[in-house]
Amino acid sequence: MLRYIKIQGTDEKLRINNIYCIGKNYLDHIKEMGGTEVHELPVVFMKPNSSIQNNNSSFGIPTYKGVKIGSELHFETEVVVAIGKDGIKIAEDEAEEYILGYAIGIDLTLRDVQSKAKTKGLPWLTSKGFMTSAPVSNIMLKENISEPENMSFSLKVNNELRQEGNTGNMLFSFPLIVSYISHIFGLNKGDLIFTGTPEGVDKLAKGDKLTANLNNILELKAEFDG
Ligand code: MG
Repeated sequence: MLRYIKIQGTDEKLRINNIYCIGKNYLDHIKEMGGTEVHELPVVFMKPNSSIQNNNSSFGIPTYKGVKIGSELHFETEVVVAIGKDGIKIAEDEAEEYILGYAIGIDLTLRDVQSKAKTKGLPWLTSKGFMTSAPVSNIMLKENISEPENMSFSLKVNNELRQEGNTGNMLFSFPLIVSYISHIFGLNKGDLIFTGTPEGVDKLAKGDKLTANLNNILELKAEFDG
């Protein structure tokens, strides 16, 4: 299934390749999940390409044999890095060259499914990788962003402010994350990296309307259709 994301202010689209996600990148979110541990290296997981949803679309919990695979769907608002060039073993001070731009996205998580998987020591892919689990805004080219390391972002649910963050609070910086992933998996043009959520994650109800904002330059709208 091919997925594309529009590049803001151009007629171009980026064909999406792999989707990496960083966990535990904001201390206050680690704490709200009951943790205390700051990891030495980024915690990385993936979502399948089919998880991507473009701006102004809806998302929902999949069913199998007529039964929903989970019940507690949480929002995690995250800044997304879009990779514009292939690279392996990228040095941190060269990481910027490989970044095409930034977007705002939501790492939708079936918390009940994830908690069960964690308890049993099983992979959590089903809880975070289902179709539509990654709504993403258009991509803003990096040339239009003066200080990526100091971008504010937020999420409103039904017009009520629910999450606020600033990339200055990330435990692992964009260059470190790009460098790290490139050493282990390699990076390709079209890869996306979700860079972790700040505190405030919570459960959604059917019909909820989400509006995420990145630095007052990008907006993402998405609706939970059950
Ligand atoms: Mg997340």
